[in-house]
Amino acid sequence: MTRGTLPWVVAAAAMLAASAALSRPFSDPRAEKRDAVDADPAFAAAERDPACHATQLVSTGGLAPRHPHTLAVRWTGYSNFELAYGGKIILLDAYFDRGSNYPPLGFAARDVTRADVILIGHGHFDHMADAASVSIRTGAAVVGAPVTTDKLTAQGVPAIQIRTVTGRGGELLKFDGFAVEPILARHGQPDPQVTTVMEGALGALSAESAAQEAEERAIRARGVSDPRVIAEGTIAYLITLDSGFRIMYRDSGGRVTDEEKAAMVRAGGVDLALVAVAAEYLMPPTARQALEHMRLYKPEVYMPAHHDAPISGRRSLWRATEPLFQALKDDNPSLVTVSRGYREPVCFNTDVNVAHDLEPRHATPLR
Ligand SMILES: [Zn+2]
Repeated sequence: MTRGTLPWVVAAAAMLAASAALSRPFSDPRAEKRDAVDADPAFAAAERDPACHATQLVSTGGLAPRHPHTLAVRWTGYSNFELAYGGKIILLDAYFDRGSNYPPLGFAARDVTRADVILIGHGHFDHMADAASVSIRTGAAVVGAPVTTDKLTAQGVPAIQIRTVTGRGGELLKFDGFAVEPILARHGQPDPQVTTVMEGALGALSAESAAQEAEERAIRARGVSDPRVIAEGTIAYLITLDSGFRIMYRDSGGRVTDEEKAAMVRAGGVDLALVAVAAEYLMPPTARQALEHMRLYKPEVYMPAHHDAPISGRRSLWRATEPLFQALKDDNPSLVTVSRGYREPVCFNTDVNVAHDLEPRHATPLR
């Protein structure tokens, strides 16, 4: 082959790859590791699903996935995710109107007009500030620990929409198309020696304006600041879709609890982990915490959360995902890591899942 033909070969191969991708409804992130994900003839023959390419949230009027067993996941800053599945919308945390000191999410809380269930991991403002307004507008059921739902009640959410859970067992919540098991988790407690130095330095380098501080005080008031959040008010949710696909959601990077260990003995593993990156600033403790989560939840795919940051002020540093992903893959080379921008969809063919696994995975326990 001459030098001149090479670019044409490369271009033709790229076009072929692109047309193969376009002939499928979407690209499931597991396809790179598992042929089974694309093997379903119905899936392979399906038309491109615009719901898996659009950046508009389903909860703000965007398209829902065509196939009832396609799950569309969108990250919307901090630990917020939207899950669209089987015609239903599940919101994980609700902190959308973050103020002028944050990168824009591309929508406001008032734009969220559809939701069926809102799961609140814990009651700090940066996880629940918009839960009350969104649940009142949409009529969605909203789930949280007592310290969280007390706040929702005080904010006028009708009692009929509120589900208070402790995560201590026996609280399986059944909805149309999916079930949710609340599990008592624990809030992150980053090393104060590090946070004091780092937040002092960041605050000195780029202080928030007085107007931004006032704005944040008002937003802060829509969440709770209560020491009970650490050990009693942080809930992980194990979501099982009716296809068998399992999702572990944990909105704070704290140590795993006995309740989580017991739940994972029963579940074995999950298809997707949506887990907050710990607020440790330095990579060794951040990776250590993520390893504890991943070794327990045994996900096939990990999407990080809580890694973005305000623009200025003492918390204005994004939590780096690439060194974290590397540490996790060094521990488990079969892990698929996915991090997208705000509102970019990630779709899964949930008919392929750990519950009816086609290949034995994790036959031997992970280290
Ligand atoms: Zn918190």
